Amino acid sequence: MNPLGIIGHAQILEQLSQLEGRHAFLLAGVPRLGKHKLAHWLTARVNCSSTSEKPCGICPSCTALLREAHPDLLEVGPKLETGSGKAARRAARRAIIPIKAIAASRDDGHDFDVHVLEWLSIGPHYRRKVVVIDGAEFLNAEAANALLKVVEEPPNNALFIFLTRDLLEVIPTIVSRCTRLNIPPVSEGKMDAALTLLEGTEDPELLAFAAGRPGVLLERDAARAALSDAHTLLEGLESGMLEALSAADALEKKFDPLWHPEALGFVARHFDSRVRLKLDEALLDAQERLEQYANAGLVFGVLALEWRRVLGYSGG
Ligand SMILES: [Zn+2]
Repeated sequence: MNPLGIIGHAQILEQLSQLEGRHAFLLAGVPRLGKHKLAHWLTARVNCSSTSEKPCGICPSCTALLREAHPDLLEVGPKLETGSGKAARRAARRAIIPIKAIAASRDDGHDFDVHVLEWLSIGPHYRRKVVVIDGAEFLNAEAANALLKVVEEPPNNALFIFLTRDLLEVIPTIVSRCTRLNIPPVSEGKMDAALTLLEGTEDPELLAFAAGRPGVLLERDAARAALSDAHTLLEGLESGMLEALSAADALEKKFDPLWHPEALGFVARHFDSRVRLKLDEALLDAQERLEQYANAGLVFGVLALEWRRVLGYSGG
């Protein structure tokens, strides 16, 4: 493993090294592939003072990055925008990167401590300032437009790294100004070797669930817990109505939208596609109702009964 703990992605690192003189990248790929770590690696590389292997992991810039206190790195991600009042909040609740994150002059409420344009107007502490936009698909049109000029002609040779789960969701004027790299999944062999290195164990189910996403290995405790909860729910569903409701109740208390929906889909992968589709629909429906602040206990109870019906356990 390299100083930044990147698992796999040797080819992407090679490409990034060759292209490091560019001033805007767009890294695309599903969550947990390691895009964020790759962005940090490139930040470390362009700021590293080593005369040999970069990033070295030990120079002042590299150590600042490893301490998560790099003065030349600014990361911008989406925030949940909420209107005022409950009804407005329900309707308007969506993640965006607003213009006020980009320009101080547009941040009347002082919602952001740092603004991209003003931050870039001061030169770097080390070599190059780097702006990581984590979730480029969340830039609204106004924010993207405000960025265009600095992306095209970045002050002080600054570097932009846009990350997105889906290239097609990013505003085309941003896409066209970037060097685009699709981040592929890491091979099973590399993932297996990394897991062995991390904890000396084999875990075929975790590897299958990870499907080439190193981020799953790095958060393996959360992934394993979600998989275990998903198995418990399926067993409960099969055992009977009361067991199903009690398993649903247990799941509700631990439910993490970042892990459990995917874990549930994963443990249900052996059912036929028609059944899986119905399970997915019920799960999506439950998540939507949770987002609308429905009673969580009720939502999970209904989900368990619906899954039991779809799986054919509720007859008789
Ligand atoms: Zn270094």
